[in-house]
Formats: sequence, structure tokens, C-alpha cells
Amino acid sequence: MPSTKAIKNLRNQAALEQGWRCYYCQLPMWDASPKEFMNRYGMPPGLTKRFQCTAEHLNARCNGGEDVAANIVAACLFCNATRHRTKHPLDATKHASVVRSRMAKGKWHPPQVIAALGNRGEPPA
Ligand SMILES: [Zn+2]
Repeated sequence: MPSTKAIKNLRNQAALEQGWRCYYCQLPMWDASPKEFMNRYGMPPGLTKRFQCTAEHLNARCNGGEDVAANIVAACLFCNATRHRTKHPLDATKHASVVRSRMAKGKWHPPQVIAALGNRGEPPA
């Protein structure tokens, strides 16, 4: 069983490759410092929490998904938790398409998030 540290390293590696943007919603994520994120984007504290960077197993651990680089991406806490909230989570590809279509309609994150981050992660001009 790999250590939590090993998973964190895999997550960091994935996050770097993703430019610290969520695998699903593509908005920026924070790691160690929510404060800096809040200040940078003018995000309320209650909404900042959801952008914490987490390790997401593409093939969920409960389905035998392994802790290896090919199976781990970096996702924001909200997208990660939402996928796993149901009894039979969608596979990662389906979840990604649900998230992206809701993002496109402005119906994934609340309006305050879109105001702060823009809908594709670029702050509104
Ligand atoms: Zn996300």
C-alpha cells in the first residue's frame, strides 16, 4: 500500500502537468495556501475550500484503481467529491463530460465563482 506521501507526489506531478487546473472544471486550484488563492481571486472563504487540489483516481480505488501516475489526476475538491457522492459514481470520462456541459451553461460552480474566476478559469476582463 503506497503512502499518502506517494499519492501526494503523484498528485503534484499531475497538477503541474495540468498547470494547477482542475482535471474536470479546468479552474485553478490551490495547494498549501487558501489565503493566497482568496486574495488573488477575491474569492469568499466558503467557496475557496472547494478549489483545494486533490488526487483523483480515474479508475476509482473501490473498483480496483491503482495509485499509479497513469490513474491519478489532480481535481478540485468539489469536482472530486461530487463524482463520489453517489453510490455508483460515473466513470471519469462521463463525469468530465457532465462537468464540462454544466460549466458551459454556467451551472456547475455558483455565480460568485464565475465572477471571480471566469467560466473557463480566466478572470473576466
Ligand atoms: Zn473542478
